[in-house]
Amino acid sequence: MEEREALRQLGDNLARIRDRMARAAQQAGREPRDIRLCAVCKGRESALIRLFAGFDVDCFGENRAQELARHLADEAYLSKPCHFIGHLQTNKLKAVVGRVSLIQSVDSLRLLQGIAREAARQGIRQDILIQLNIGDEASKTGAPKEALFPLLDAAAAEPGLRLRGLMAIPPSFDNGPESRRYFAQMYDLQQQAAEHIDMPLDILSLGMSDSFEAAILEGANLVRIGRSLFEGAGL
Ligand SMILES: *Cc1c(COP(=O)(O)O)cnc(C)c1O
Repeated sequence: MEEREALRQLGDNLARIRDRMARAAQQAGREPRDIRLCAVCKGRESALIRLFAGFDVDCFGENRAQELARHLADEAYLSKPCHFIGHLQTNKLKAVVGRVSLIQSVDSLRLLQGIAREAARQGIRQDILIQLNIGDEASKTGAPKEALFPLLDAAAAEPGLRLRGLMAIPPSFDNGPESRRYFAQMYDLQQQAAEHIDMPLDILSLGMSDSFEAAILEGANLVRIGRSLFEGAGL
């Protein structure tokens, strides 16, 4: 596909998604500009990411350390921030900590402490979200709900970490009532978490290609979208 054609397709996809995000925000009585869009890069080529970085996306999301490294080396994000959103193994910490503006997928004490140690070694403060396994699915990553308060306490005790909020991938992937129930639970847990640590939490990361409207209606302010942004745009 020619670059010109890919650009047109990406622009069209983005306009459609932004429009749907704005409608959902308005329906929820919220400001469209308060909801940020994270473009999920999963398996995409650097050249395509770089084309997209010229558009109105707020940040990029990577779920593998290897792809993050490749896209960083290729300067694919231009000046846009990048988030880590995938399962993070402790042997990959050096490739991720300090290289992304936010790690969204912190789901165990061991990982949290590993990130804190690496951040301290680099002399930086790493922003993180705690990822919850909100549907209690055996197959999914994310911390069990019962682990939330201990993880909050651990994060608050680490000078190398700044906790910004919560993230989840619920079992349902559409805009239906089941999704909304899970997203609403996450909103409640975010309120409880902020109360528990007596600090404001400003990021609630929920919603993907087929569920972001439900997420926005229930209070998400960061949506992670892959497929429907890149649909039809190869290079
Ligand atoms: C792939 C992925 C997304 C995006 O999903 P799409 O259905 O492609 O929009 C969002 N969040 C995470 C953690 C992902 O791995």
